[in-house]
Amino acid sequence: MIEQKEFEIELTTLEPIRIGGIASPLSGIDNPIALVGDKPVVPGSTLKGAYRCEIERYLIDTYFDRAAKKWTDKNLQPCIPSTKLSPDENQLVVNGSYRFYNSFQPTGGDIKGEGCHYPCDRKCKALHEICPVCYFLGANGLEGFVKVPFLYAKTAVNELYSANIDRAIQTVKQGTNRPYQLVPDGVKFTGTLTVILKDTVRDRELGKARNLKDDTGGDAWLAGHPRSIDQIIKEFIIDRFVSIKTIGGYKSKGFGKVDIKIKPI
Ligand SMILES: [Zn+2]
Ligand SMILES: [Zn+2]
Repeated sequence: MIEQKEFEIELTTLEPIRIGGIASPLSGIDNPIALVGDKPVVPGSTLKGAYRCEIERYLIDTYFDRAAKKWTDKNLQPCIPSTKLSPDENQLVVNGSYRFYNSFQPTGGDIKGEGCHYPCDRKCKALHEICPVCYFLGANGLEGFVKVPFLYAKTAVNELYSANIDRAIQTVKQGTNRPYQLVPDGVKFTGTLTVILKDTVRDRELGKARNLKDDTGGDAWLAGHPRSIDQIIKEFIIDRFVSIKTIGGYKSKGFGKVDIKIKPI
């Protein structure tokens, strides 16, 4: 049996936002926004990225002493879920903000390695853990507890533009840039977030370390001190979604500010 809880997410744009979609040769629009049918959307992957970022920031702000480069609990250190690091990301690993496993750098090449994964493969010298962020959102090879939805605008893209014709112009020309589409401010998007509370078949319960059989350090951050479901939902779900203040691209051009509300259904 799977026990789950649903939350309604409502996102309101406070500035225009721009999340790129796939250009259709028939539309005649160069840089379209993400649409499903005729509705603008915030794709699940975009919202998930913003949410992931907020959990990481929260963990680092709350549990990491930057000056001393020390974690109050090392198990709370988030990973960089990638197989390659940019020099800036590598700096974050070096200063201790993030974990990154099996990292190596071939002479003159990129720094390679991996984020959380399951099970631990032979490359690992010691057993890896799953970081708190991957606990919620899933790691390579292991499902998480939170399913982040697409958010849909109620308004079709055409109505949106006719209602805001002067600000939200179908395509905007700025200087020599190519024209692009955007979602104006004041538009609401909604979607339903699903959180797994308990999965009896797989023996998993939110707030507790999972009983993982294969080689892994597992959910070490919860092993010694499980958290209650209410505590987890407030600290890692509700408060984190509400903290998302920007989304999408063109942030340096005054785009992206949003307000997010989330409530249990
Ligand atoms: Zn991770
Ligand atoms: Zn491993």
